[in-house]
Amino acid sequence: MAGILDYKTALEVLNSEYKTRDGIDVITLMDSVTRGGLTYNDFLILPGKIDFPSSDVSLETKLTKKITLRAPLVSSPMDTVTESEMAIHMALLGGIGIIQHNCSPDDQAEMVRKVKKYENGFISDPIVVAPTQTVGEIKKLKESLGFAGFPVTENGQVPGKLLGIVTSRDIQFHDNNDTPVSEIMTTDLVTASGNVDLLEANEVLRKSKKGKLPIVDAESNLVALLSRTDLQKNHNYPNASKSKDKQLLCGAAIGTRPDDRDRLAKLVAAGLDVAVIDSSQGNSVFQIELIKWAKATFPELEVIGGNVVTREQAAELIAAGVDGLRIGMGSGSICITQEVMAVGRPQGTAVYNVTQFAKRFGVPCIADGGIQNIGHITKALALGASAVMMGGLLAGTTESPGKYFYKNGQRLKTYRGMGSIEAMEKQGINDNAATSRYFSESDSVFVAQGVSGSVLDKGSITKFVPYLISGLEHGLQDIGVKSITQFQESVSDGTVRFEFRSTSAQVEGGVHSLHSYEKRLHN
Ligand code: IMP
Repeated sequence: MAGILDYKTALEVLNSEYKTRDGIDVITLMDSVTRGGLTYNDFLILPGKIDFPSSDVSLETKLTKKITLRAPLVSSPMDTVTESEMAIHMALLGGIGIIQHNCSPDDQAEMVRKVKKYENGFISDPIVVAPTQTVGEIKKLKESLGFAGFPVTENGQVPGKLLGIVTSRDIQFHDNNDTPVSEIMTTDLVTASGNVDLLEANEVLRKSKKGKLPIVDAESNLVALLSRTDLQKNHNYPNASKSKDKQLLCGAAIGTRPDDRDRLAKLVAAGLDVAVIDSSQGNSVFQIELIKWAKATFPELEVIGGNVVTREQAAELIAAGVDGLRIGMGSGSICITQEVMAVGRPQGTAVYNVTQFAKRFGVPCIADGGIQNIGHITKALALGASAVMMGGLLAGTTESPGKYFYKNGQRLKTYRGMGSIEAMEKQGINDNAATSRYFSESDSVFVAQGVSGSVLDKGSITKFVPYLISGLEHGLQDIGVKSITQFQESVSDGTVRFEFRSTSAQVEGGVHSLHSYEKRLHN
């Protein structure tokens, strides 16, 4: 029909008559002179063209100059978010955890050591018994732990010379509770050597028909254990973040006080890969001196500085030698810094301005705080961040520290700011704790910069993080980019377009007009 253009003609018209692509480019979007500071909810990314499956999307990214991750996800160094369990699982899933420092240097170093020593599937600190312990004691252990099958070592510890194993069958019909373990234990053992990998060890265990496989070193010392009941549960983690020696990558936070240098030395001795200097206002002479010292003293260690929200702050830390930057001031979900200190910056604007400067020096940046959903992660990447740091989004998971409790029928965990009175009081009573992020030693009054609250149970991050990753892959597919690198290049050259989002557009973009609904995020 005359006047109606066919598909080919539509493309021709598009290419010949429209000088720019639909929507606005990132420079126009982030023009804070005319628009003011923006954050994630203030804009959207326009869709591109899908011509590949979401499984083709690569989320590989730089955490620091030297460290590459398969997923741009970092857990925050907060005492209700990251200790060894969280750090182990973040690394297994392709991200990294930064161990909190509201504890003694020795406790923090022990947490780092646990992450570095972790071998997927291997129990690295099994319950062991001494040959002098009695049958009665083993029965009690079995009752309290719900399992039996304890290796017996000469010193009753790990590592220790392996003498035998005591199982349910050894004690089942043994009425004399005073008999020492050495008399009834099984000494006919199948073991594997310390350098065996999980696949091989599983095979040995399967063939042996035994319940447990002790792993021993060259001197017959027990170093780990593999359990038959775990055989089915041992997942593979092909994207795990590992150092050259195949150990999981681990980060830890430190403050900027003089004794943080001793703390850092202990963390490095425990195998630390990356130190995060934890300060809400990173541009201080203390931090600058610490960065220079850390880089000179531990040349292999990667050092992330921060927090910064301006180009000028970033320039000082880059000049001091940082390998990465952490961006954010006042955007955290538990944060009252902007209210109390009158300083900070809307997170979108902070991320954009700092990353545009830092990338000229090859310094990757983490967008820290305010990540409430997958869309926010995609937007942080669009604005130039290499990774995001999450507190609240990962709190309330099985791997976060703290016990669940119930309130009004809901299962919750505590989540608190490191500048909350509750967290600072812990620092006050623990002489060794050095979270100087929010107060200095001379302060006689704590001025809170955070609150303490609770979050809903989110289950295990072994399900939650794959949900974040899959969502990110689908987001990038919708935008029409196959990798984070391509995404950021396409934002810079103006191919990826944006739209500013008015307040009513934000309402429209959320669930609305329903009588009631349940928000389930993943299966
Ligand atoms: P969220 O992911 O929005 O919960 O923010 C977590 C981030 O908030 C952390 O990584 C810190 O940068 C920041 N933060 C932690 N504790 C406090 C606090 O007490 N006051 C202000 N910011 C905090």
